Amino acid sequence: RQKNIAIAASHVSNQFENDDFILEDVPHLTNFLPDLPSYPNPVQKSQAYSIVKRTFVSPEDVVAQNIVIQKDSPRGVHFRRAGPREKVYFKPEEVRACIVTCGGLCPGINTVIREIVCGLNNMYGVQDILGIEGGYKGFYSKNTLRLTTKLVNDIHKRGGTFLRTSRGGHDTHKIVDNLEDRGINQVYIIGGDGTQKGAALIYEEVKKRGLQVAVAGIPKTIDNDIAVIDKSFGFDTAVEEAQRAINAAHVEVESVENGVGIVKLMGRYSGFIAMYATLASRDVDCCLIPESPFYLEGRGGLFEFIERRLKENGHLVIVVAEGAGQEYVAAEVLATAEKDASGNKLLLDVGPWLSDKIKDHFTNFQKMAINMKYIDPTYMIRAIPSNASDNIYCTLLAQSAVHGAMAGYTGFTIGPVNSRHAYIPIARVTERTNTVKLTDRMWARLLASTNQPSFVASDQERVDTDNEVMKT
Ligand code: ATP
Ligand code: MG
Repeated sequence: RQKNIAIAASHVSNQFENDDFILEDVPHLTNFLPDLPSYPNPVQKSQAYSIVKRTFVSPEDVVAQNIVIQKDSPRGVHFRRAGPREKVYFKPEEVRACIVTCGGLCPGINTVIREIVCGLNNMYGVQDILGIEGGYKGFYSKNTLRLTTKLVNDIHKRGGTFLRTSRGGHDTHKIVDNLEDRGINQVYIIGGDGTQKGAALIYEEVKKRGLQVAVAGIPKTIDNDIAVIDKSFGFDTAVEEAQRAINAAHVEVESVENGVGIVKLMGRYSGFIAMYATLASRDVDCCLIPESPFYLEGRGGLFEFIERRLKENGHLVIVVAEGAGQEYVAAEVLATAEKDASGNKLLLDVGPWLSDKIKDHFTNFQKMAINMKYIDPTYMIRAIPSNASDNIYCTLLAQSAVHGAMAGYTGFTIGPVNSRHAYIPIARVTERTNTVKLTDRMWARLLASTNQPSFVASDQERVDTDNEVMKT
């Protein structure tokens, strides 16, 4: 079997001499510190693992990215399975770990923080854990906080991040200088795509300086737009909490004549929250996501659909993801090139734009009075603590990150691939985002459930239809 394993030296997708089996490996400290001593893993002696039958994951255990394959087709890309290894490259008493959280809020961050602290302490006996306050900037401009299991015991019950967060301010050299000054040798970085790019730079700089520092990324995105991994933490909670907003919109519009409810949900480039919230709810008549272009006027357009549903049911609810219809909004609202402190483009707000368009159309063109109810629950959703399933998920992420760093892996990020947790090269999760595939079955399931228009008519067809209407 060993013969079949082709290891990806560059840590990014590649074809190898044997393309039947590709292992996209993560870096290990011994790659640049070959003489680093190893020690028996103390986890076996911990209370937690004392009766576990198969304590260690073999370094050869891998997780397949494609689990549905045809007979005789190549086995494709694999990642190293996460979990405790027989050998570790840190003596627990010599570990000085730190945790930092960056980017926007997401349910579950506090659970991840808590479980990194508890995992390091309860499984490995590590005592020295620092919290870096206020994101990357906190490395050189803020105080640190000593994290103990007692201090973090209850933090998972609160939303937000116990360590606070920020955007911008990533200075790789200053951060690594700071790691050296403080004697930190394990860095746990919780954050989104920008944060993980920053983590990759920290890893590169650490490697350049030949430091024995393990850098572990825990990917955070409420939008579920991280490639490779099954889903991101907080996503389940977001979908669940979105039900409350959808329900409120439904109650409102059901109680009035010609009620039109619009709920704007998160999803800058990926419509997963809107799609799953719609599939979960059954009160949603139409779901608009960034991946599926829609149009308002003409045959098969949104206005026609709204009119039909109002005639049939007297009300309707639309869920719109924040990134949907940006091309229209940008064309009408004075497009600004505004960016946030991290350099992300600020999106124009589709929610009020869509509400105004619908109101205007029905009042001025259809001469039909409608009752518009617009709800934007974004901050309410982001701020809540994670639900039961996300709490379990966050625990696995945190413990896998701890096992990985103790085992000497570095420059890695962690996540479930086909429900098995794996160590994934950071570049693999930052090089592209995960989006809803309109050609996959999930979107078809949504269309089948809502019976909304698919908006697939080409522009040309629409023009023809409009002309026909005008001619008649
Ligand atoms: P989210 O978008 O989910 O809120 P994020 O991690 O993408 O999370 P950002 O505000 O983009 O949020 O970035 C967080 C931190 O990462 C900031 O401190 C920022 O300076 C840093 N960062 C962002 N992009 C990069 C990059 N390309 N290289 C280095 N650091 C980066
Ligand atoms: Mg981001």
